[in-house]
Amino acid sequence: MRRKKRVVRIGSVSIGGHHAIAVQSMTKTKTSDVKSTLAQIRRLERAGCELVRCAVANKDDAAALSQLCRFAKIPVIADIHFDYRLALAAIDAGVAKIRINPGNIGDEWKVERLIERARDKNVPVRIGINSGSLPKAIIEKHGHPTVPAIVETIERALSIFKKNSFTNIVLSAKCVDVQDTIETYELLDKRFEYPLHVGITEAGLPFQGSIKSAVGIGVLLHQGIGDTIRVSLTADPVQEVAAAYNILSALGLRKHGPVLISCPTCGRCEVNIVRIARAVDKRLRKYKTFMKVAVMGCVVNGPGEAREADFGIACGKDTGAIFAKGKEIKRVREKKIIDTLFEVIDENINNR
Ligand code: SF4
Repeated sequence: MRRKKRVVRIGSVSIGGHHAIAVQSMTKTKTSDVKSTLAQIRRLERAGCELVRCAVANKDDAAALSQLCRFAKIPVIADIHFDYRLALAAIDAGVAKIRINPGNIGDEWKVERLIERARDKNVPVRIGINSGSLPKAIIEKHGHPTVPAIVETIERALSIFKKNSFTNIVLSAKCVDVQDTIETYELLDKRFEYPLHVGITEAGLPFQGSIKSAVGIGVLLHQGIGDTIRVSLTADPVQEVAAAYNILSALGLRKHGPVLISCPTCGRCEVNIVRIARAVDKRLRKYKTFMKVAVMGCVVNGPGEAREADFGIACGKDTGAIFAKGKEIKRVREKKIIDTLFEVIDENINNR
């Protein structure tokens, strides 16, 4: 059961309360390069990304934000480190949220200036701590970026916001280590009413990063912890969005596009099921409709799974039976299996 948090409005997207868990990603272009950044935002929008964050590292990046906010269809979030003046410029440019790491913003008065501007413009602030960038004083006290060190950093940062009666806040405390991340968020969830942005930081290349993220984010979401997620991959950000929806879909929390069910194949298989599954997966990426499509290698589990899915293939020797809505409707030669499956899918989708 998901614990209810304060509702925070990030432009057109609300998180917390009973709102759906929002999927976000981050552009990987230079933010000052408006053309490339907008092109990446467009690709993210098409992939189903709901919130996009852009790094604001200097004045040129800050200057690009008004154009990005104007043309992006999804809310733009500014990611700020070190310089509070960049946060002020980002808020003035119209961003829907800012993310700061209070540990590197510096003096308290700088955070207060930022709070004042965020309040004036009704812009929420994510206090985003990463295990790799804790303040020096905390590291000196704890020795390492341990879970208590991370939670203390959040508490210290929050005390400034509390003193200034500012509650339009989202929290995150991402660690590289999956178990530390889980433990940290469990504590944050118990202690604070603010919505939580959940993720594993620096998770790695797509294969390893998706597994680490699925384990960490999955365990937390399964406990009802998390209001928005980002899968951080060393890859095209569109892959982050796909991974995020796969995690949400596996937990039954969101339905987004087709879900492929494919058998692992074994000695009973008489067709090239790996090739068929890959080809079906590739063609399914063009579809937005939620549907389960099963690609099965033989008659052991094939007909059962294919029947249970919305559409399916159960292969035999050089042939495949095509299923739609629980019924076998055609049997075709191996080379016709994929095209026939998609003809059937298209007919059914058009008929809806
Ligand atoms: S469906 Fe058939 S081919 Fe696929 S793994 Fe199961 S037994 Fe093997």
